[in-house]
Amino acid sequence: MDSNILHNLSYGMYIVSSNNGKLVNAQIANTVFQITSEPVTIGISVNNKNLTHGYIDLSRRFALSVLDEKAPLSLIGKFGFKSGRDGDKFKGTDFIILASGCPVVLDSALCYIEAKVVKQLDCFTHTLFIGEMTGSKMLKSGKPMTYDYYHKEKRGTTPSSAPTFIKEEMPDPAKEITMQKYRCVVCNYMYDPAIGDPDGGIGAGTPFEKIPDNWVCPICGADKSQFVKDN
Ligand code: FE
Repeated sequence: MDSNILHNLSYGMYIVSSNNGKLVNAQIANTVFQITSEPVTIGISVNNKNLTHGYIDLSRRFALSVLDEKAPLSLIGKFGFKSGRDGDKFKGTDFIILASGCPVVLDSALCYIEAKVVKQLDCFTHTLFIGEMTGSKMLKSGKPMTYDYYHKEKRGTTPSSAPTFIKEEMPDPAKEITMQKYRCVVCNYMYDPAIGDPDGGIGAGTPFEKIPDNWVCPICGADKSQFVKDN
């Protein structure tokens, strides 16, 4: 069985949010899809251990923002690689609270959808929540970010808690290394000197050693000491 085949399945990039009556939380999700049109129902898959899972389970409500292709890695890192248990993810992010009590992220969002949970299915490590759409709003025109674009063009990574996480093969040691790549041990982001980090002001062709010491991982915010040579 070749699990790499699963890379051929297509997904989008979303921020799924909910609340527990007092507090709000949100997380990145790629498994969001329409199931029926009358009524409009949306399925989302959420890791059972995530704080947002607990909030959806309790409030029976969720909202989701559809991310613009231009969304920065830092936004995805903030909502995808950090837990709301460790701090307020919404600090510094533009958002509103909907009538359902769910927050919805407006930064880099093309539109948002609100839903009430009508069914849920326990799927091993994750729960498939099926929500009936109760509201929606278009915010701006643009191209929705696909999961493929996030990986290939933005060079983003996937936390092990995501439904579509696939363990990567070890890199080929025989592969010629002209400039050393460095990997973030926190989120697995790979710094490739050939590409640099344009979002972070690091130009293509900059060796890792030449990056200023105050530079941080564009996805998770870890500092340079959290990076190791990639074989
Ligand atoms: Fe990182």
